[in-house]
Amino acid sequence: MAVPVAQQRKLTQRSGNICAFPECGLLLTAQGAPQDPVVVLGEMAHIVAESPNGPRGDSPLTPEERNRYENLILLCNQHHQLIDSDGALAKYTVERLQAMKETHEQRIERRLGGRSNVPSELPPMVSDTVYSNVLPVTQMPRYIYGAPCSSGRENEVRSAPASAGMMTPFILREGRLWAFQDLRDTRNPFAGVVACTETERFSTKEWWTDPDRLGWYVALLNRSLNKLTGRLGLRLDHDHHRYYFEPEEAGVERSVPYRPLNASRATRGVVWQPKKRATGEPRNYWLHRAVSLRFFLVGDNQWCLSVRPELRVTSDGFESIHAKYIGRQVTRKKSRLFNHDLLGEVQFWRDFLGRSTPRIFFPFGTDRQNLIVSTSLGSGQVRWPGIPAEHDMPFKNVEYVDDLFTWAEAGGLGEDDDPAGEDDEDAEETLR
Ligand SMILES: [Zn+2]
Ligand SMILES: [Zn+2]
Repeated sequence: MAVPVAQQRKLTQRSGNICAFPECGLLLTAQGAPQDPVVVLGEMAHIVAESPNGPRGDSPLTPEERNRYENLILLCNQHHQLIDSDGALAKYTVERLQAMKETHEQRIERRLGGRSNVPSELPPMVSDTVYSNVLPVTQMPRYIYGAPCSSGRENEVRSAPASAGMMTPFILREGRLWAFQDLRDTRNPFAGVVACTETERFSTKEWWTDPDRLGWYVALLNRSLNKLTGRLGLRLDHDHHRYYFEPEEAGVERSVPYRPLNASRATRGVVWQPKKRATGEPRNYWLHRAVSLRFFLVGDNQWCLSVRPELRVTSDGFESIHAKYIGRQVTRKKSRLFNHDLLGEVQFWRDFLGRSTPRIFFPFGTDRQNLIVSTSLGSGQVRWPGIPAEHDMPFKNVEYVDDLFTWAEAGGLGEDDDPAGEDDEDAEETLR
């Protein structure tokens, strides 16, 4: 059974008659003198072999399906031999070849100007560095310890850290207290409330693969965040699970020193009462820098900490104002997030949380048990078209309206430099 001509033609066209193997780029026709016939060098390689005994041939595909475009990839002779060679079969799987083909055909399509769903005039391509707001965890504690606990309520448990500066987060689950400190040690911080001799020890990795225990683990990490932010003087906003700055003194604005992106040292306002630009008159609400922090597991072993800057709005520096009183129109107009602003904000938080060091450190006691988050921001170079005008519009994701509003408000009001004054008048109407 041979490959039908229509299928051959489709494959040749879609692949631009170029070998689909990454970086090969060989044009698969060769022409000598103009009068010579065109020599076809391309080979229609089977992804799933034509016969069940051939390379990757073990598949439910019918003989007819095996000879269709969907199962063929156009390659030069050298790369056809490579993917079919015995030693390479484990590497060039069906999935891998399909992906290779798809990537190649997409590249060809773009090079040829694309189909109807691609705008005929693309915006100019620009190079950008895109930063992530996710910090990698470079060390997780190796063990977690649990022991029967005499207290059933977390707020009754008092710990006695063995050394100054030690952090002692814990959770109570199923009658046991779970912590990163070795509970077998009779001098452990919880020795007063746990039965040391009945301690169980688990490898933390073991917990990550069990969905229930993973939930417990994340709870324990959240307690650790509470400890860290508490030491830095941040308050926990339980409703939104985020941390924020409070004034040190009622009615007094507050700023903290930090190391910004382009200067060695600066201060940043963290609690302030916005002023009307024209008159300098204070508005009737306060803004507080806030951050949502979340640990999450990527793949099997890599943990990350996401840092999402937010703002909290209060009436007087303490009493929260719910976003629903702030006005839909303002929310809509202000809900624009720009990469650069976000980056500046993330920079502030990573510097503050890491105390201007390369790491955020959670001291749980012994070296191998400490939790360490790197404060280097992941970044990547991208080359992409600028945002087309029709897409350059506010975000509409309702779930994030609260945060986006409050965050975006910082851009306009942070330095008391407010380009859209009339929007704030709306806000005030609603707030009053
Ligand atoms: Zn083949
Ligand atoms: Zn090739």
